[in-house]
Amino acid sequence: MKTLAAGSTIGILGGGQLGRMMSIAAAKLGYKCHIYCPDIGNPAEQVSEKATHASYEDCEALERFAKEVDVITYEFENIPVMTVEALKLKTAVFPGSRVLKVSQDRLSEKIFLNDLGLATAPYAGVNHLDEAKKVLEKISYPAVLKTRRFGYDGKGQAIVKSRSDVEKAWERLASDNIIIEGFIDFDMEISVLVVRGQDGKIKCFEPVENQHKNHILDLSIVPARISNVLKAAAIKQASKIIENIDYVGVLTVEFFISSNEPKLRVNEIAPRVHNSGHWTIEACPASQFEQHIRAICGLPLGDVKFTGQVRMTNLIGNDILKLPDLLKEVGASVHDYGKDEIKVGRKMGHVTRLISPEY
Ligand code: AMP
Repeated sequence: MKTLAAGSTIGILGGGQLGRMMSIAAAKLGYKCHIYCPDIGNPAEQVSEKATHASYEDCEALERFAKEVDVITYEFENIPVMTVEALKLKTAVFPGSRVLKVSQDRLSEKIFLNDLGLATAPYAGVNHLDEAKKVLEKISYPAVLKTRRFGYDGKGQAIVKSRSDVEKAWERLASDNIIIEGFIDFDMEISVLVVRGQDGKIKCFEPVENQHKNHILDLSIVPARISNVLKAAAIKQASKIIENIDYVGVLTVEFFISSNEPKLRVNEIAPRVHNSGHWTIEACPASQFEQHIRAICGLPLGDVKFTGQVRMTNLIGNDILKLPDLLKEVGASVHDYGKDEIKVGRKMGHVTRLISPEY
């Protein structure tokens, strides 16, 4: 395990709020950050030592960046695999490219998870409308059609309730690389944030219950209101995933929980820190961001201990205008991501509420 000395520079691909909070955690441990992102004025560079603005395909800019930093990580999962492969010839990149290859394609992801013996929704990859119709007869209705790549927050997906919906859904998705999933009538969605250090040690945060509005995370509740048996099973599955994908850093595993068998199904994995882990900043000795920095810099992992209860609410679009009132609220920790423009559906900040008897 190679430990990066304090004062070293961490290169972060991506300039969003996750990079911003990673950079703040890195500063706490004595590191500097250099953000690589095509967009100027992004939330991460506002709190970082340096920024490079260039595309992820710009070989010269990538080479210069790799020479200027001591380790590289990423804060979003749609970084081209080629970019990471080119960078890692010059400087270590954590997590590596294998997890990107798997998680960028919903079909590869499902195959990987099922090969590990983990339950997911029933699925099939299809390339033509006729093939889709045949598969749907087997998987049966309702089902979810998703583009295999570049889907997030419910984008790139369509629910088909019956045969008559299929053609419209196919047209809407406008892709011939589609995965069909059986519709899971789940009771709850949870996520598990798991971290693996360069020495192979693994730690898991308390499982999180997530509620969405318009497909965007709205509220995270910790601890998730599930049995200890299910919690232990979710932690075991998340640990199995991180152990089997050559991974260093924080990985997020999202699960559906249903009352019928199997109770736990993996929905997807995100090779990064995650919105559903923001509560760890205030509620744990070392947050998800700090754990990620510790792992990629070869430091020992921190304490994930959590007791009590916490709620994290996203501030989406105009919600950020509530900031003056939220700042007055006892027990609330408010985060503003410093984004220049309010847009509908845009994550502008979040608020974490520690629920303890004194509040
Ligand atoms: P995803 O982009 O795959 O995380 O999907 C976004 C949201 O769509 C999930 O958080 C679920 O609420 C819903 N969803 C996705 N896949 C399924 C499925 N197979 N069955 C039921 N709901 C789903």
